[in-house]
Amino acid sequence: MLKIVILIFLQTSLLLPAYGWGFRKKNKSKSEEPKPVPKPERTIPEDLQILMDSYSDIKIQAEYSEEKNDWIISFENYGTPQIFYWAEGSVLPEEELINRENYWHVVYKYSNELRDPKTFTEEEIARLKEYGTVKNRKKAPGTPMFFFDAVYASYSRAKIEPHIITIKFLGKGTRVHERILEPLKNVETKILEAEKKSPEVKTFIKELKSAAAYNWRQIDGTKRKSFHSLGIAVDVLPVAYHGGEVFWSWARDKNPERWMMTSIKGRWMPPKEIIDAFESEGFIWGGYWAIWDNMHFEYHPELIAKMKTKENNN
Ligand SMILES: [Zn+2]
Repeated sequence: MLKIVILIFLQTSLLLPAYGWGFRKKNKSKSEEPKPVPKPERTIPEDLQILMDSYSDIKIQAEYSEEKNDWIISFENYGTPQIFYWAEGSVLPEEELINRENYWHVVYKYSNELRDPKTFTEEEIARLKEYGTVKNRKKAPGTPMFFFDAVYASYSRAKIEPHIITIKFLGKGTRVHERILEPLKNVETKILEAEKKSPEVKTFIKELKSAAAYNWRQIDGTKRKSFHSLGIAVDVLPVAYHGGEVFWSWARDKNPERWMMTSIKGRWMPPKEIIDAFESEGFIWGGYWAIWDNMHFEYHPELIAKMKTKENNN
């Protein structure tokens, strides 16, 4: 039930080794330019624009600072003014710029395609096995949480809990952040609509045991906060898995050497209609990660928006 955002990135880096780590180059200005040149027109980076559009109710402002050679992002949320640096996509407060190499990008490529483990190379298998060890998970970098903490007021348990609301999702009681009330309600409406046509969806709803969301905790085996701590991740657990594996870490405990080779058929899957309903409302599904978490959905409209861009599909 534990969610590991880094895993998406791991998957991304497995599939696309060229992406992700190569964006650290700084633009060097030509200091030997003889004449002053007019200021170049700055275009907001595409991923920053995606972020601004995905959280448009917050009214994020972005302004380029020649002095800082970076985009400065400002907004006010829950009465608190926020200032971040774009930092090539990591969205960091000024004091963290010095550590920027430790952070991944906030908007990254999310792929909604299931990869058959039979196509993994030996190198990929070795990387996944290595990643699955507790030692490596403790030191792995992660998604920078500064932006999300500002959006969800998730600085501490005391700060976030006034924004956590108890609701029912498909008949199960759960606690979620107020910001995802509407998208989650829409997901439910779509699922109930799909139930009328699909016996699989009907069975899914009938066999749903729980829909656990908010839980102030760290990601298992790491010091990082889970997105469950923000109340924006939901685990849909069935009463029975019918022999399928549901979570990579449980499979690893049974088979530390070859857990990553668990076939797609050997995993418990929510019906496609369920995944589609969540995705259409801005939730990513943990089942697409190389380190799969098939019960897990997480609200990231920026990643769904990124998925729809041309760049992501090239
Ligand atoms: Zn989860």
